[in-house]
Amino acid sequence: MNNTYDCLVIGCGLAGAVISRELAETQGKKVLIIEKRSHIGGNTYDFLNEDGILVHKYGPHIFHSGSKRVFDYISRFTQWRDYSHEVLADIHGTLMPVPFNLNSLYMAFDSEKASRLEKKLVATYGTDKRLTISQLRDQTDSELVELADFVYNNVFLHYTEKQWGVTPDHIDPSVIARVPILISRDNRYFQDKYQGIPSNGYTSLFEKLLKHPNIDLQLDTDANMVLKMIGNDILFNEKPFKGTVVYTGALDEFFDCRFGRLPYRTLDFLFETHDMTWYQSKGTINYTVDKPFTRITEFKHLTGQNIQGKTTTMKEYPREYTGNEGEIPYYAILNDENFELYRKYKKLTEGCSDFHLLGRLAEYKYYNMDAIIECALKLADHMIGVEKGKD
Ligand SMILES: Cc1cc2nc3c(=O)[nH]c(=O)nc-3n(C[C@H](O)[C@H](O)[C@H](O)COP(=O)(O)OP(=O)(O)OC[C@H]3O[C@@H](n4cnc5c(N)ncnc54)[C@H](O)[C@@H]3O)c2cc1C
Repeated sequence: MNNTYDCLVIGCGLAGAVISRELAETQGKKVLIIEKRSHIGGNTYDFLNEDGILVHKYGPHIFHSGSKRVFDYISRFTQWRDYSHEVLADIHGTLMPVPFNLNSLYMAFDSEKASRLEKKLVATYGTDKRLTISQLRDQTDSELVELADFVYNNVFLHYTEKQWGVTPDHIDPSVIARVPILISRDNRYFQDKYQGIPSNGYTSLFEKLLKHPNIDLQLDTDANMVLKMIGNDILFNEKPFKGTVVYTGALDEFFDCRFGRLPYRTLDFLFETHDMTWYQSKGTINYTVDKPFTRITEFKHLTGQNIQGKTTTMKEYPREYTGNEGEIPYYAILNDENFELYRKYKKLTEGCSDFHLLGRLAEYKYYNMDAIIECALKLADHMIGVEKGKD
């Protein structure tokens, strides 16, 4: 079996599936994907629940990108439902668009004050601009500073505390500095040129992406049980493997967490189906000043499914990732200490020239879907360059 494949790809999320397709199609390699879950798609996986409602098992996924290359590439495998995500923040019962914009301004303040603030914002920054609360805080005008504080306290602070499990003094100032305010009436959550939801869902997209005679898939298999790195050599099923390995799983786990676990935040998801056609007015509502969960998403807004009298929502409860059975590491906690630990693991792989780390887990980073597709395409470009160099 070891000699049957040119490449082993660990993990069948976007990183693993895109690089597999590229290796198989562009480079004619025989690829085996090993996936520990019982399904394809990684965290983008969606399925029909018992009420026939299409839900995203690991949290709501909305495709958005500014990259034509990425959009054209992934559009080979799906048609799109034209969907622009809108998010509201529930601030003591008032639902305001986020990112905070001019429409939110008129909900947060009385119309006279909102109009005064709008004029000051436009005079200072112009229209259709995106600024950050730290830019506003630097202003000498006390009302603009007050606006920055309003957004910080009501949209950002409590949500971030829940998401990351930190107290305000532990929030990195650079994160605070990036909290956006839009001087526009555009209520879309993302402003990218390309946005949408795969018409038949992500799992269907993956089925097409993986449909290639050079790709084999093995589900329900933890690669760490069959793949080992001994010095600079790879053993697969206890025999030397000389081909390419692309690893998209968690790097600390590949090395049995020998230097300690890389810290992550995980999420508990609560799915609820309600006997009503609509539960809320927009796809996602963020709970930014109260409630133990961060947000509620109603899937039918995203998918456009026309089902009367039933709808499914999901609440997200963030908490610390402990590595216990069944937990999924979702968000890397990015700080110098953790990155240093990551580097120690990465160093162990550096003598193995055809072993590649790709994806949010293997690179210990947060990637949006478009960014990970782009990374996979770039890795494929790089591999083609290396192959050509051998000729
Ligand atoms: C709650 C949430 C919401 C998100 N929403 C959006 C959004 O709206 N828009 C957007 O662009 N991005 C979104 N993202 C980001 C998106 O999920 C990632 O960009 C994408 O999942 C990255 O793909 P990946 O292949 O790197 O990782 P994953 O999707 O996690 O895939 C990795 C795969 O590797 C498998 N694996 C791991 N270890 C092993 C092993 N030892 N053996 C075998 N298999 C293994 C895993 O089971 C998994 O299937 C969201 C992320 C989260 C957490």
